[in-house]
Amino acid sequence: MTILWMVLFFGAGACIGSFINVVADRLPRGESIIRPPSHCSECQHQISARDNIPIISYLWLRGRCHYCHATLPQRLFWVELGTAILFAFLVWHYGLTWELPLIALYCCLFISLLLIDLEHGILPNKIIYPAMVVALVIAGLGSIFNFEPIDIVGRGFRLWIVDAAIGGVIGLVLLLLPALLYRGGMGWGDVKLAALIGFVTGFPLVILAIFLAVILGGIVAAILLLLKIKGRKDAIPFGPFLSAAAMVTLFWGGNIVNLLFPS
Ligand SMILES: [Zn+2]
Repeated sequence: MTILWMVLFFGAGACIGSFINVVADRLPRGESIIRPPSHCSECQHQISARDNIPIISYLWLRGRCHYCHATLPQRLFWVELGTAILFAFLVWHYGLTWELPLIALYCCLFISLLLIDLEHGILPNKIIYPAMVVALVIAGLGSIFNFEPIDIVGRGFRLWIVDAAIGGVIGLVLLLLPALLYRGGMGWGDVKLAALIGFVTGFPLVILAIFLAVILGGIVAAILLLLKIKGRKDAIPFGPFLSAAAMVTLFWGGNIVNLLFPS
């Protein structure tokens, strides 16, 4: 039964990954994410349904446009495959619980922000601000109607909306100082993203998320410097690490805290 659900979620994740690709392509350019339908960025030919099947079409077309044979960005394929695997993992990790759609929603949010910051070096307010409102409304509803994800609210003030609000303030404060002190690489977008992560993971997990982002960013930056892919003066965006760390914290934050501080 679980295998069947994992296969179904793999398929759903591939389709959602395809949509995330559209968001990451169009939103930073200020284009509508609904219209026009998908088209080749080289020859502008509209992509037919047959050529628009997530994962499969890319392999079938060997990564090229059906009409003009221009090379398609590899990212299209990796995001579809990555989101598919992630969704299969989510249903395996959470089972068919109410947390599943919630965490899936937050994963889509963080994957989009990760991609956009990686490719464009921006964290759009158009995503961050509405997401903040949604996260607070969900936490508020959870507190009122008494459903709370135990992983998120197990250690804070044990009231979701309070943990979320405090988490957001802590995220903002923790990144405010480095953003003011070290210009290149970290900016206001990162401060706002840290606040959003606080609203999502709550207190105290937001501290873990930022800690993980710093470690992950440090490791990746060291590797990029060693391999001479990036120079000392190149700015490496911090948003992708914050986004990745937020997802890791959502999945295993509670376990990591239990390991570090056994009670
Ligand atoms: Zn084309």
